[in-house]
Formats: sequence, structure tokens, C-alpha cells
Amino acid sequence: MAKNIERFDLAIVGASIAGNFLCYLLSNTKLRILVIEEHKNIGVPFQCAGIVSQKLTQLIKVPNDIILNRVNVAKLVTPFGKIIKLSGDENPYIINRIALDRLFYEKVKNYKNISFYLGEKFESFKYLKENKNKCVLLETSKRKIKVKMLIGCDGPLSLVGKTLGIKNKVIYASQIRVKGTFNQNEAAMYFDPRWKELFGWIVPEGNNIYRIGIGTSTNIAKKFKLFTKALKIDINQKIDQQGGIIPYGLMNKIAFNNVLLLGDSACQVKATTGGGIVMLLTCAKYAASCIIKCFKTNSFSKKFIKRNYERLCATNVGKQLKIHYIVRSMMEEFTKKDFEKLFQIIKKSKIEHLISIYGDMDFPREIIFKLLKNPLVFTFLIKFVLKHPNIFVRSLRTLTK
Ligand SMILES: Cc1cc2nc3c(=O)[nH]c(=O)nc-3n(C[C@H](O)[C@H](O)[C@H](O)COP(=O)(O)OP(=O)(O)OC[C@H]3O[C@@H](n4cnc5c(N)ncnc54)[C@H](O)[C@@H]3O)c2cc1C
Repeated sequence: MAKNIERFDLAIVGASIAGNFLCYLLSNTKLRILVIEEHKNIGVPFQCAGIVSQKLTQLIKVPNDIILNRVNVAKLVTPFGKIIKLSGDENPYIINRIALDRLFYEKVKNYKNISFYLGEKFESFKYLKENKNKCVLLETSKRKIKVKMLIGCDGPLSLVGKTLGIKNKVIYASQIRVKGTFNQNEAAMYFDPRWKELFGWIVPEGNNIYRIGIGTSTNIAKKFKLFTKALKIDINQKIDQQGGIIPYGLMNKIAFNNVLLLGDSACQVKATTGGGIVMLLTCAKYAASCIIKCFKTNSFSKKFIKRNYERLCATNVGKQLKIHYIVRSMMEEFTKKDFEKLFQIIKKSKIEHLISIYGDMDFPREIIFKLLKNPLVFTFLIKFVLKHPNIFVRSLRTLTK
């Protein structure tokens, strides 16, 4: 039987934080919006360490029940166990990620102009011409839908992006929640060349529950066991376990004819920490304003979306993501000894307070420039770059991209 074609102005693929927040930002327009989500329940499976900087509350109004805990110390640990503790004005939130994903869905789910198709998989799309205008015909596991604009909020393995030739490099993450006796006020990061693409973490959720995980590009299960063993944690005592995929690299091309990408699909993620929430909330505001302009002016070309969305993201978020990427590229080449040396320098030159004052979990440009002014750090980096000239070339390429 031939499927009927349904019509909406706009379809968003993915009802996680990016898709739901964007939908909320557009909810008071008269646009007929469809959100397609392959899972039946919003927010599950939960795949997040849930540590987010204070910027969260500048970007959105956060109900109290979403914030489970706050930490005031970042504990950084080298492979040989040397520790630096940073504390300052940045007191990140530990959030209930499932509740955050549901927050904006709950606000808009009963709006007349908004439909959610849950438990339905987006499968493909193609361009069509209608009255000389380009539009998009998409196909889900259940139906065909015609829209003027398609938004890919479908995560790191985005099928919307893949159809347009965009493929993210990814790393894998594994995490358990356990009862424990670590410090409730400290988020810890364990650096090790064995999981050089990210780090191991302990994030205190509150009520003596800790989220313990690592991110790496290979052998995640084996390395996770090594990490938990080193922390003397019995995996069998876990409350539950999460897996997940984190995109890794620089922000992608995110503007196309009638289509834009937002969130993990766009690789709007910090390569130093794997954190994406602040970045995607920031970019969602640009996306919403661009989409409103597209419909007001009936302009859906790549050029228009690039000018009104991609450029803003590139200037305000993409540049910072480049710095995260350069820092990560260097850290990937660090030997155990390099970590020790750098930590020694930080301690010796008493620059912990500088990091505490100027360190910004999301926007690191200022602190990087301040650190480069320290002769010991500068010398360390010059020696490191001379040993790894490829890093220098890659960094230059990244900055000029
Ligand atoms: C283990 C782990 C820990 C993390 N910790 C942090 C942290 O502490 N702080 C932080 O800021 N960030 C963290 N992140 C990153 C953060 O979770 C992401 O940046 C964020 O979830 C991206 O949101 P998104 O909406 O773009 O994509 P996602 O959350 O990936 O959501 C994509 C949605 O699209 C749906 N979907 C995908 N394909 C289809 C399809 N074909 N059809 C229909 N639906 C589809 C999926 O089901 C999903 O609901 C972590 C990530 C992981 C994996």
C-alpha cells in the first residue's frame, strides 16, 4: 500500500537535549514542527557524566531537581598519581541528565503546532522540487514526510549528516554508577596515555553515588576494567552501567540546502573533555534565530543558512573548540613523563591559582594565553613541539581552517 505523505514546516531528528531545546525555542512561532525520535522514552538510555559548567544557568532556566550536586574542586591526577587540585569560581553542576532531556519536551509536548513521533526511526531523505522551491522528503520507519527544513539533532552517528557526507570521528565511553566514599565536592580526572583520547573520571552525583567512567577510542571494556581496578572499585557492586559515543574533532560543516546540524551531529563538543551541553545550547539559539529567518524570508539555501547559523557558531563556539582540539592533540602525544613534568611545572610556578581564576571549562582561550606567558610552561611547550613537529603543523592547520 502506498504511504500517504504527511506535511510539516520543519522536522527535527532526535529528541535529546539538542532537538528538544531547539523545538522549545521555536515553539512560539507558528511553524508546524515534527520531532522524530527512535526511542519510545525521552532521555533513555542515559549516556552522560552530567558535569556542566555554571554557564548552564545563563543559557537556560534550570529547575532545582535537575541539579543533583555541585563540585568546587577539580582534581587532576597523573599516571603516576601526582595530584593537582583546582578550585575557584567555576563550581560546575552535576545534573540529572534524563530530567534535562525531558525538561523541554514536557514544556512543548501538548502544543498544537508540535508533534513528537517517538519510537520511530528516521531512515533517509532526498530533495524534491515543489513549485520551483526545493523541499525535503524524508522517510521514517513508519511514513513519508515532506518538510521545508530538516534539522539533524541525531547525535554523533548522525544519519542526517551521513547523507550529506559528514562523518564524525568518535571515541567510546563506559561508565558505572556506584556507592562509594570518594570526595563529594570533587570531580576527578585521571590522565593516562592508555586512554589518551580523553581521561578517566569520578563525578560525585550526591548521596554518596559516583559516576565512574573513561573515554577512549579502542578496547574500552578492557581499559575500563583497568581503570576501575586501579581505583579499587568492584564493578559488580555497580548500581547501573552506561555506554556512549562521543564525537571527537573540530566542528563540522553544519549548513546545507534546507538542512542544518546541531549538537553532537555537528561535533559541537569539547575535545578536551567530551562535554557538549553548553556548546549545543549556545548553538541552538543561533539555529532557532536562523530557522525563523529562513521561514520569514522563504530562503533555505546553504548560503543563507551558512551566513545566519554556521558563521555565528564558528565565531563564538568553533574558535574555542579549535583550542580544545589543539590541547587534546598535544595531550594525545604525552608520555607518562610529560604529564609528570607538566604537573611539576604547574606546582613549581604556582600557576594553579591562575588556572583557578581564569580557567573556563568551556571557553579556554583566555587561560591558554595567560599560561603561555609563563616562561616554564612556554619552554615545556616549545621543547614538546620540537619533539613533535607534526603537532605544530596540525595546530597551525587547525587555527587557519
Ligand atoms: C559517557 C558520556 C559522558 C558525557 N559526559 C558529559 C558531561 O559530563 N558534560 C557534557 O556537557 N557533555 C557530556 N557528554 C556529551 C553530551 O552527552 C552530548 O554532547 C549531548 O548528549 C549531545 O546531545 P544531542 O542532542 O546533540 O545528541 P544525543 O544526546 O546523542 O541525542 C541524539 C538523539 O537522536 C536520536 N536519534 C539518533 N538517530 C536517530 C534516527 N535515525 N531516528 C530517530 N532518532 C534518532 C537518539 O536516539 C537520541 O535521542 C557525554 C557523553 C557521553 C557519551
